[in-house]
Amino acid sequence: MYDYSDINLERLIEDCFPLLAPPENIPFSQWAEKNRVLDSMSSKFSGAWTNKITPWVIEPMDLMGPNSGYNHVVLMFGSQTSKTECIINTLLAYMDISPGPMMWFLPTDSQAQEYSKTRLMPAINNCERLSKMLGGGARDSNNTIMSKIIPGGSLRLSGANSPTNMAGYPVKVLCRDEIDRWPDDVKGEGSGLSLTAQRTVTFQGEEMIIDTSTPTTKGCSAIEDMFLLTDQRHWTVPCPHCGEYQELLFRRKLNEDSDELTRMMHFTRNEAGAVIKAELICYHCGCAILEEHKMEMQQNGKYEVRNPGASKAGFFVNGLNSLFTSWISIGERFFEAKGDMLKLKSFINTVLAETWEDTASYIKPDSIEARAEDYDKVPKEVIYLTCAVDVQRDRLEMEIRGWGKDFESWGIEYHTIYGAYDEPTTWTQLHDYLNYPLERDDGIRQKIFCTFIDSADGTSTKSVYQFCREHKKNRVFAIHGRGGENMQPIHAIKDCNQNKIRIITLGSDTLKDLCNFNLKIKEHGKNYVHFPKGCGYDSNYYKMLTAEEKVDEINKKTNRIKRVWRIKKDQKRNESWDIFCYNRAAIEHCMPKNAKWERVEGKIIGAVEEKKTMKKPSKRRPKVIRNPLLDV
Ligand SMILES: [Zn+2]
Repeated sequence: MYDYSDINLERLIEDCFPLLAPPENIPFSQWAEKNRVLDSMSSKFSGAWTNKITPWVIEPMDLMGPNSGYNHVVLMFGSQTSKTECIINTLLAYMDISPGPMMWFLPTDSQAQEYSKTRLMPAINNCERLSKMLGGGARDSNNTIMSKIIPGGSLRLSGANSPTNMAGYPVKVLCRDEIDRWPDDVKGEGSGLSLTAQRTVTFQGEEMIIDTSTPTTKGCSAIEDMFLLTDQRHWTVPCPHCGEYQELLFRRKLNEDSDELTRMMHFTRNEAGAVIKAELICYHCGCAILEEHKMEMQQNGKYEVRNPGASKAGFFVNGLNSLFTSWISIGERFFEAKGDMLKLKSFINTVLAETWEDTASYIKPDSIEARAEDYDKVPKEVIYLTCAVDVQRDRLEMEIRGWGKDFESWGIEYHTIYGAYDEPTTWTQLHDYLNYPLERDDGIRQKIFCTFIDSADGTSTKSVYQFCREHKKNRVFAIHGRGGENMQPIHAIKDCNQNKIRIITLGSDTLKDLCNFNLKIKEHGKNYVHFPKGCGYDSNYYKMLTAEEKVDEINKKTNRIKRVWRIKKDQKRNESWDIFCYNRAAIEHCMPKNAKWERVEGKIIGAVEEKKTMKKPSKRRPKVIRNPLLDV
């Protein structure tokens, strides 16, 4: 037998395994400064974590730690405010100081995987204590992408789209990230928020629930609803001129009794429209606060509690505070978003961390009809022609729309082909209609570049698929709409091998919001919608175009309010409205996301080149100018 009596075990551990020394029980913000190292891959500032760059995360991190007196912390943070780093610091500090079962939910499984690979794993690998605990970064059954098992605890990641994961075994720390982008109802099992909340019941009193998100639409935003139940801490900084504290706000009410918002951020632009200077007007003294004051102001920032006494802690910080995003770039983004609903919504939600006021409202048919203009050909500003078709039992209804720079559009013709959907002659007529080049103002003939046909009506789907298969080369696609908040106009594109066609799923609610927003634009230019006098655009067209309204609907399973588009009670038909929305989706498909109009400006996509010297009509197909942005 060995005699261990003269060995000081504690000393031996300290000497040989300094990393196994018991962790210090320190506030999480201090733990981060001692243990977190950022790599250049995931952060602009690489090296040891410092709370100086984002001082607003100190208080939330400390309150998210154990024994803080809070069991529920809510973060309504704008983009580039280190929300994810704040979560990672907290989860890592828990693993080190107070391990237990933990879960980090993101909206989808693929996002959870992505976050684990690009954010969490580098953070663990760069943290000596945790990296050793997990076997030095080697992958094994204790260290997989979605699960990290450590002595006394575990951290698992999951998407918020799996009912099994959401209502599984108990967890002590539950982090629900980007909750405004979670599905409303998880595969018929109810709301993800109530499913996951059940998981912490066993740990009652010791549990920590962390909810975070940038917000979405007012009235339907889970993070805003949650934040309003907290003590509402707003990040404020002192003015460099008068020293008074205030929130850095892009716009604010100057008078509490009025609803009018005044823009506090001012920009100077050069002749080319580029933002060259940005300043924020102090609410108290009216002096201009400049970008260069940012760092110093942030060091002296503090939270202002607006709802003291609440049992949950809530933090609000917008993107104007971020040292990672300049005010000039915020200005550039603001001007780019002007008159563009999707960009404006994203700017308000992600940069300002504010909810988007749903401005969708009923439009009177007469007001649109009254602005119809005198043009009967394709105006010279048109770059693309698209067509959208709605299939009815006894007829096909369609509209050809011309698209110019920045989605300014011109109605060209609203047309009906009478005939049953299962009669081949109906489809032959559609073939002829779509293939007939249209004459422009300048005499050039232009063909329709892309056609969307609604295939959602079960009975005619087969006929639509057949036509789309036969006209695939001419970019004729079958579409169907899907409802739901926060979807893109083009939600999904699927090449269906069985039917040998491309089926495009549209985010119907977003598309309708966008089209309603655009119909209300009054100035010619970006997103303005033109209608011609005549050409099939009669009073009935405008009545159908304005047949739907947006109403509040309560989801009985999740008890949450949803804003949905519904046909008005006194209306029966809405074909021209659907078709109008499909055309907008068709041009979104021609102009892939983030494609620049400058690349196609001045071009005529689909122009038919004809040789004037030609005597006999050629049997060859006319040469058509292809879309440089899209190689289908
Ligand atoms: Zn001031």
